[in-house]
Amino acid sequence: MTSPVRKVLIIGGGFSGMSAAIEFAKLGAEVELVEIDPGWRSYGAGISLGGATLRAFRQLGILEAFLEHGAASDGVQIRLPHGLQVGELPTPRLAGHDVPGGGAIMRPVLARLLAEATRASGTTVRLGCTFSAIEQDAEGVDVSFTDGQRRRYDLVVGADGLYSNVREALFPDAPKPRYSGQACWRAIVPRPPEIRTATMWIGPKVKPGVNPVSKTEMYLFITEPRPTNERVDPTTFVDQVRALLADFPAPELQAIRDGLGPDSQVVFRPLEGMLMPRPWSQGRVVLIGDTVHATTPHLASGACIGIEDAIVLAEEVGRNERVEAALAAFEARRWERCRMVVENSARLGEIEIAGGDKEEHARIMRESLMALAAPI
Ligand SMILES: Cc1cc2nc3c(=O)[nH]c(=O)nc-3n(C[C@H](O)[C@H](O)[C@H](O)COP(=O)(O)OP(=O)(O)OC[C@H]3O[C@@H](n4cnc5c(N)ncnc54)[C@H](O)[C@@H]3O)c2cc1C
Repeated sequence: MTSPVRKVLIIGGGFSGMSAAIEFAKLGAEVELVEIDPGWRSYGAGISLGGATLRAFRQLGILEAFLEHGAASDGVQIRLPHGLQVGELPTPRLAGHDVPGGGAIMRPVLARLLAEATRASGTTVRLGCTFSAIEQDAEGVDVSFTDGQRRRYDLVVGADGLYSNVREALFPDAPKPRYSGQACWRAIVPRPPEIRTATMWIGPKVKPGVNPVSKTEMYLFITEPRPTNERVDPTTFVDQVRALLADFPAPELQAIRDGLGPDSQVVFRPLEGMLMPRPWSQGRVVLIGDTVHATTPHLASGACIGIEDAIVLAEEVGRNERVEAALAAFEARRWERCRMVVENSARLGEIEIAGGDKEEHARIMRESLMALAAPI
């Protein structure tokens, strides 16, 4: 069967867009990717990855590189603020019996691995460039670019993230990103030998955690309630993280607290979410990743579902003779899983903000992680 898509444009070179480039190139399509950031940068924080993400890495062909440059382990340890372990969330081995069920890596390292795979796929990458107009008819999409070029494609994939211009151009009435009332701090710290896997300390309303990103380093993350989304002065970052850790006597957290300094790469991020109702496409333009389902990080699965979108989209385009049928099949396969991640993550955040029911929190975590283990 011949694919209806010979020329594809991807707008946005984040994890979702790069994954789409890699998978469409496998179909034999001529793939172009435009990324607005001339430096194609990714900020310096860690990212946690579950078994479903590692399964997707295997499909993309970057699993070996991830295992070499990141860190993989099984299970998520749940502890009380003093350090007593009260549970462990299972992380099923989904990428193969010999590959742990989760892990983490530095974002710039993952971005580099995906960028190398994107370029190796034959994708034409244009940096510092974006679209200025999108016009389509039944047979194709004409795109004008900010560098003055104008080209025609069989399919356009919008992967330009939470504040997407493609979504704004196509669906001006789509819901806007919504502040969740919680913020997240992250930092890079030395990894002591006793930290072997993702570990979280559950306080009344504040939740610190660590996850190894390499043999020698791990990243610290802390969620805290913040009723309003105001700017935080970066010169106060280290002191604010220290203050949040003061209520956690666990020795590992106190050692981190003592060691925090100017080199800890502290990042602050208000947590926002957005789930766009269906449809996720208009004609021959389809949206994937955070562009349509930006989740708060409570299930550590935002990147996962964006990367999976890319895999499923290419799969459906490869097996359907009509673009319309492929996009409908893509959306039908993705909607429920992505809705589940966004809505369950939001509920976990609400429970944390309210200092609510820890049992419900643990149940939602367990059920969501089991649901994510299902085939895509
Ligand atoms: C605090 C925090 C912690 C998180 N932790 C995790 C985690 O542990 N695990 C996990 O799986 N997920 C996590 N996530 C979610 C994850 O980071 C996102 O879901 C994922 O990065 C989305 O990728 P994306 O490619 O869809 O969008 P983005 O990463 O936003 O990429 C969009 C790309 O498009 C480019 N772009 C923007 N506008 C344009 C334009 N007009 N034209 C061209 N290019 C454009 C941008 O420069 C960017 O490169 C977290 C999110 C937050 C906020």
